[in-house]
Amino acid sequence: MIKATKPKILIVYTGGTIGMIKDPTTGILKPFNFEAIYDQVPRLLFYDIDIDTFSFDNPIDSSDMLPDDWQKIAEKIYENYDEYDGFVILHGTDTMAYTASALSFMFENLSKPIILTGSQLPLGIARTDGRNNIINAVEIAAAKHQDGFSVIPEVCICFENKLYRGNRTYKNNAENFDAFASPNYPLLANVGVNIKYNYDYIAKVPKEKMKLCTQIDPNIAILKLYPGIGQNIVASILEAEELHGVVLETYGAGNSNKSPWFLDLLSKAITKGILIINVTQCKGGGAVNEGKYESSFLLGKLGIVSGYDIITESAVTKLMHLLGKEKDKEIIKTLLNKSLRGEMTVE
Ligand code: ASP
Repeated sequence: MIKATKPKILIVYTGGTIGMIKDPTTGILKPFNFEAIYDQVPRLLFYDIDIDTFSFDNPIDSSDMLPDDWQKIAEKIYENYDEYDGFVILHGTDTMAYTASALSFMFENLSKPIILTGSQLPLGIARTDGRNNIINAVEIAAAKHQDGFSVIPEVCICFENKLYRGNRTYKNNAENFDAFASPNYPLLANVGVNIKYNYDYIAKVPKEKMKLCTQIDPNIAILKLYPGIGQNIVASILEAEELHGVVLETYGAGNSNKSPWFLDLLSKAITKGILIINVTQCKGGGAVNEGKYESSFLLGKLGIVSGYDIITESAVTKLMHLLGKEKDKEIIKTLLNKSLRGEMTVE
């Protein structure tokens, strides 16, 4: 008889509210020693799971996270990939969606779970949501099918009893425990009395070997349209030095104003080799549908790539990843148009 081995999980602490305590003199939230997580979540010790922990030397508020930090997290996972069955990344909620998206693009052919979680209230506070979030994340990271393959071979966010695909999710509430949303893609699991997995929507375990690409080109901008946006403002963004890519946040089904000056600035940027992806501002569901209205048709004709139902967090990190990885603009355009890690629904 084959003896089932205990799953092994690595918890990586990066910072954020979850690991914070109040400085008694200033009242400001500061990171505490990660080892204290066991004092705060003793139930972790009772799982039939081997849990190791790693803490970055300087845990940070996630609003200070930089692409370098995404690379460090990815490398830590990569170094330990063969030794562990799954990874739980404790992270601040503010930019968790960006880190989750970035990691999803950095890892190709992922066969093990990378689950990001955090909390709205510090672990040191009685009503904290952190304990529940960590426990759920660890259990999901350790979940395996009978054949030994991980149930969740994806980068996910686990928060308030919900498991989301990481590159489909954004923070939508700074007050509620239910702080994330993924309007364009169903939950991968609901945590209740049982953990109910939505198998139809979970990525399949790939046959190919996992590959990591951490190269990032951060020289991109988000250009969010609003009625009355000035020519000087658009020009200052599109004519910025070293700009390589733009996430153009348009209205509705991918529409923009049709002013000649605006289309002209876009056209000049594209001629200079800047890649532009059209992403809708409709976060609560919706997709770019180039050609539905005249303006989106014009944007498509200029060479702007449709982002379909991708969300901004995902478009930003996808663009940074592809610009860092590939030199050939045509290849990048083709890849932008494709769903690489389930980040968009291509019609
Ligand atoms: N500012 C904190 C952070 O993102 C908020 C949190 O963790 O929820 O690191």
